[in-house]
Order: sequence, then C-alpha cells, then structure tokens
Amino acid sequence: MTGAGQQSEDFHFPALVNGLDFLVSAVGSLSGDNGQPGPRDVKYAVLHLQAAVETLLKARLEMHDPALVWTKVGAFDQRKHEAGDFSSCGVKIAIERLRDTVQIESKIDPEDVSLRALGSLRNRIMHFGWKDTVVAVQARTVPVLDLLVGFINTDVLPHVDQPDEAWSAERQMEQLRAGFKHLTDFIVLRMQALRSQLDRYEHSTAACRSCGQFAVVLDGGAHDLACLLCGKQYGTGAEAAWEFIGSSRYVSVTQGGGDLNGCGSCGTYSVISTPLANSPEEDSWICFDCGSTHEGVCTFCDQAADLVPEMDMCSDCYEIRLDNF
Ligand SMILES: [Zn+2]
Ligand SMILES: [Zn+2]
Ligand SMILES: [Zn+2]
Repeated sequence: MTGAGQQSEDFHFPALVNGLDFLVSAVGSLSGDNGQPGPRDVKYAVLHLQAAVETLLKARLEMHDPALVWTKVGAFDQRKHEAGDFSSCGVKIAIERLRDTVQIESKIDPEDVSLRALGSLRNRIMHFGWKDTVVAVQARTVPVLDLLVGFINTDVLPHVDQPDEAWSAERQMEQLRAGFKHLTDFIVLRMQALRSQLDRYEHSTAACRSCGQFAVVLDGGAHDLACLLCGKQYGTGAEAAWEFIGSSRYVSVTQGGGDLNGCGSCGTYSVISTPLANSPEEDSWICFDCGSTHEGVCTFCDQAADLVPEMDMCSDCYEIRLDNF
C-alpha cells in the first residue's frame, strides 16, 4: 500500500477503498462465498482482517490529519508521507488518537478484547504455526467485523468527500453487509446446535471473551471452563473471572490491587459482575467457581450475597450490627 498514490491509475487504492477491499476479502473467505471455508481460506481471512483493521483506522486518522498516522506526530513530513517512508502508529495508539483527537462517535476500547485476540491470532499464524477450528476463527472474527462495520458506518462514510471514493466505498459495503449477514447467520445456526447444552443454564452462562457468544457455562467447581462455541479455554473459575475483567490475580496483587469479591455461597474469591445469558443487557454478580448469582456485594464484609432489603449489607453483617445495639 505504501506509495500507492504514486502508481498508475489501475493500481490507485485510496486508503479507505484499500481497507474495505481487505475487509471484503476477509468476509468473503470467512462466510464461505465459495463453499465451506478451508484452513487456507481462514488463514488469509485473518491476515486480511488484521490488515483491514489497521488500514481503516488509519484511513480515518488520515482524513483528519495525515500526521496522526505517524508514530511521532511531530516528525511529520509530507514528502516522506507520500513516499510511505515513515513508521506508522499501531492499532492501540490509532484508537486512542481517534478517541482523543478526532473524537469519533464510536466507542472503541483501545484494549478491545476481540481486536487483541485477532492481533495475537495473526501473530501466531505469522510466527508460530497455528492450530484451531474453522468455526472458532469464524466466531472470533464476528465481534471485530461488528466493530468495524459500525465504525465505518458511523465515523468513516459520512466523512468521505470524494464522490468516486464514496461510490466505491458504498459498493464495497453492500458486498460486505451480504457476507457479514451470511457469516452471522451461520454462527446463529451453530449456536442453535448447542441449545441442548445451554438451555436451562441461562442464569450461569457468560459471554465468551473471544467470540462474544453466550456459550461459557459456569457450572459448579469446573477446572476446565471453555467456550462451547469457539473452544476458548479459561481454566479454573478464578482464572476465568480474572480473564473476564482483563487482568490476573498476580498483576492485581503485585500492583497493590485487591482480590476479587468473595462468594457468600462457596467462599472462593471468584465473583465479578458480567452480563449473563438470561439478562444480556445488564451486569449480574456471579461466582465463576460455583455459578451462584448474588444480588450485590456487602459493603461491610465485601462478600457477594443476597442483601438485606434497603441496605448495602448481607444478612450476617446485619445481624452482627443488631446484636451490637
Ligand atoms: Zn467463544
Ligand atoms: Zn461461589
Ligand atoms: Zn457482609
């Protein structure tokens, strides 16, 4: 892509059109445009999707101010920029600049879990070899595609001022929406196939950090929690809980933070608040070890428990206070 503007018309790919081209290619392969995707299709889909992420985020930065694409904004040089002779910022910095300087409307977390998962998947493919199932990769890419399509619709397309570029982009988006729908329909089908394993467990099923689907059943005392759809492994309940909040017990403790909240039912420190399949729109307090849900956390003993009505207190602490009167 570097220096594309210098080449003949036939190879002229403006950044946006170029990014969308990567995205259309990725979605085409993932959705099985040419039949059920094989390992090679999925491999190139991941590489193209990662390229799409980088190109599209930077295309929006470029629209605002080309210097924002540079690692060192202050060193910007128009001639070098056109020649592609510079090092450009990474995905995380690009998102921070989009948020802070461009002030885009889309809320994209610079540490977004699905983007990071895609980045590490891409690195594994490039450097370490790789073993996975096709459906796992398909499922894991859905949240990234969702994020990108929202970003393009809300924050990119309305700012394209070249009519021919807008026209190309709109045609690419049509292709993209069709392929994306195909892919999400496929994931819905796979989720339906899991119904018998998920039904009746809605109160203790969390959304997978990798694929975004409600397919992680927190059944009592498991040591090998995994996503039933994409197969992501979470380990023990406590390890899973830490991963869900994007940290680890080691990091928290060494940085002076605390442990997770304790569970009033089983006593382990594995309680966090996260959406569950039975109430996907709001966070619920759940113990990742025993799967118990709790009304809240007692402000006196920090245990997750059912609270005394109108009080931020568990019944044990309430009784102790009564006894002290
Ligand atoms: Zn998953
Ligand atoms: Zn518990
Ligand atoms: Zn208490």
